Amino acid sequence: INTLLNPIRTLINFTEQFQKGMTGFERFLDILDTEPDIVDKKDSIELKKVKGKITFKNVSFKYDDSRYVLENINLNVNPGETVALVGPSGGGKSTICSLIPRFYEVTQGQILLDDIDIRDIKLRSLRKNIGIVQQDVYLFAGTVMENIRYGKPDATEEEVIEAAKKANAHDFIMELENGYDTYVGERGVKLSGGQKQRISIARVFLKNPPVLILDEATSALDNESEKIVQESLEKLSQNRTTFVIAHRLSTIKNAKTILVLTDEGIAEKGNHQELLNNNGVYARLYNAQFSDVN
Ligand code: ATP
Repeated sequence: INTLLNPIRTLINFTEQFQKGMTGFERFLDILDTEPDIVDKKDSIELKKVKGKITFKNVSFKYDDSRYVLENINLNVNPGETVALVGPSGGGKSTICSLIPRFYEVTQGQILLDDIDIRDIKLRSLRKNIGIVQQDVYLFAGTVMENIRYGKPDATEEEVIEAAKKANAHDFIMELENGYDTYVGERGVKLSGGQKQRISIARVFLKNPPVLILDEATSALDNESEKIVQESLEKLSQNRTTFVIAHRLSTIKNAKTILVLTDEGIAEKGNHQELLNNNGVYARLYNAQFSDVN
């Protein structure tokens, strides 16, 4: 009975996941602020020019002594390609994303960046090459300028403004009382969710990393704001290797690879057309949910 029910349960969870926020991803971001217990190896590598090829070789992962969350994942992502991660809550989308910047170590197997095992790379150097845009954006108490410059501390004013323009943030910033010198964060002016997100996108434009991790959840935004944010995210992911926890059909359809993750592992892998032809979980979801939208 269990086996019979599984696909249905998966489908239901899958649908829910398109509607609710990203609990896993939020958990994953909590770790950003904690002190890493991961230390650099002796003779670890400082990366020079990074192309952004990411390879998973037989990657398995478990958080503790309980079950494996990921088992034997193999994946090759060429520079500039997009991988869309979809699947029910708890399937492991956020976990995959947190292994790439080494918030956790793989239990077995290897993750490589440009054919170098990420455990052989200096942690700071690895993370310098990875940009992250999440749903809940943290702005610290300071000016808009300072908040964007956080992406690249030695950036000039011109560079900050250029990044804000790319992120569709410049216009609203110019309408704030003191423009780029406006105080935000605690006790500063209140920005909308979409505005905060665009500031965080500007940070990543400024940082200009070859690898990108995106949480596409935009449920907290109104339609207009969502459209603008989506547009800047699309621009941001151009020419960058992108792992996106995807919620929009257009993102999923355009991805080079879609990974359908369920609690049994990678249920399916392929592009939109291939997965439709597979006639599996993805095809059922698509036919049930999306066949009459763009
Ligand atoms: P969601 O759509 O809810 O964000 P997800 O697909 O991102 O889900 P993950 O958050 O990666 O899934 O979770 C995969 C599994 O790992 C789940 O069973 C989850 O309970 C478990 N898990 C996630 N984070 C931890 C953690 N820090 N410690 C132990 N188990 C965890």
